[in-house]
Amino acid sequence: MSDFNVNELVEKYPLLADLIALKDSAWFNPNIAPFAVAKDDVGLDANDIDDAAQRLKRFAPYLARVFEDAAKSKGIIESEIVDISKMKEALEADYGVKIRGRLMLKKDSHLPISGSIKARGGIYEVLHHAEDLAIEAGLLSKDDDYSKLASPEFKEFFSRYKIAVGSTGNLGLSIGIMSAKLGFNVSVHMSADAREWKKQKLRSHGVNVVEYQNDYSVAVAQGREEAKKDPSCFFIDDENSKTLFLGYSVSGQRLKAQLDSMGIVVDKEHPLFVYLPCGVGGGPGGVAFGVKNEFKDDVHCFFAEPTHSPCMYLGVYTNLHEKISVQDLGIDNVTAADGLAVGRASGFVGHAMARLIDGYYTLSDDEMYKLLYMLSCKEDIKLEPSALAGMKGPMCIMQAQEYLKRMGMDESVLDNATHIVWATGGGMVPEAEMSKYLEKGSSL
Ligand SMILES: *Cc1c(COP(=O)(O)O)cnc(C)c1O
Repeated sequence: MSDFNVNELVEKYPLLADLIALKDSAWFNPNIAPFAVAKDDVGLDANDIDDAAQRLKRFAPYLARVFEDAAKSKGIIESEIVDISKMKEALEADYGVKIRGRLMLKKDSHLPISGSIKARGGIYEVLHHAEDLAIEAGLLSKDDDYSKLASPEFKEFFSRYKIAVGSTGNLGLSIGIMSAKLGFNVSVHMSADAREWKKQKLRSHGVNVVEYQNDYSVAVAQGREEAKKDPSCFFIDDENSKTLFLGYSVSGQRLKAQLDSMGIVVDKEHPLFVYLPCGVGGGPGGVAFGVKNEFKDDVHCFFAEPTHSPCMYLGVYTNLHEKISVQDLGIDNVTAADGLAVGRASGFVGHAMARLIDGYYTLSDDEMYKLLYMLSCKEDIKLEPSALAGMKGPMCIMQAQEYLKRMGMDESVLDNATHIVWATGGGMVPEAEMSKYLEKGSSL
């Protein structure tokens, strides 16, 4: 069975006691390495990211044509980055911690097409697959204007193929909407925690939604099994896909261009901190890889997880990666942060990024709700609970004396810092649902 003994593990890794007790916890990885050294752990490089960026460019005319909300950006799926200085003040007052530097929000919550970070990776992988099929069939060449993919001929062609995916919600939403639009026959295997409105939305797009009473890993396993039986079915593997990962990592180049255009400098004296909510790890891992490629050792990435689902923290901290789940420690993996309700982290991402992520922390669902309400009041920006996980990051870092000392960052450097909270979802949450989130947040 498992190749570890829980009691021995807890003895060797003292922070596990906090994770088991569902306490807020933070771990700053002492084993991080310079980008020049650790980049080889990933097995992908800047050329792979460029290739993904080029592919997304080829598809832009098509996306602009078939999705109204993508037309405004000419088919480029990208989000705004905004200053949240009123939120910063409120956080400082509420937590009693001074946040040195500038606080910004990356609004992947409002990405076109599916309103979450999954509009990067999920859509990219569907497009990649569609391109492969169409080129192989001799229907498409890379120099074509891809808006021809919107024609009935292509829809008919893609309808002969199936796509399957297992999801807690948002990945299914992205892959389902994109696949159905192209014409694919698509099935989304949804875990028990997936929201009803997401299932309804998918069905309204003609997606086959398969529901499970179990958690995410079971939904993924079932999707994988179903796909195995059918050679025309392509399974999108959230736990291992390098294609998904690359779709997310294109965000690095885009972020660099955005910061440049705002005159925001990132270098050793002006560090960048990025706080990423983490589920299975593909989204935050891919984004972190993308920003690392741009900013190397001047960017510091942190993963944020619910106290009930700290899978990546657990996997990297114990070096057991996908071999251990939170349930192995008696942690229930039950959280309102549906995109983050994952008990076992991606082994691929854990290994690839182990030396490139500066730290990991957990926070409670209540804290996410509280921050959700605070952000709505102070900045009038509405997010889903998962997307607030990154908001606690700046306070964690500011209090991490040992880590800051190890990184050689004193107050004068921190005053030049830029903190980016990656808001991963919420743009498509129905109003009634959002009112419930706000009500809950205001009551805490
Ligand atoms: C999926 C998701 C994440 C995390 O991405 P993973 O690839 O699962 O780690 C974070 N926030 C939201 C809203 C998500 O839907």
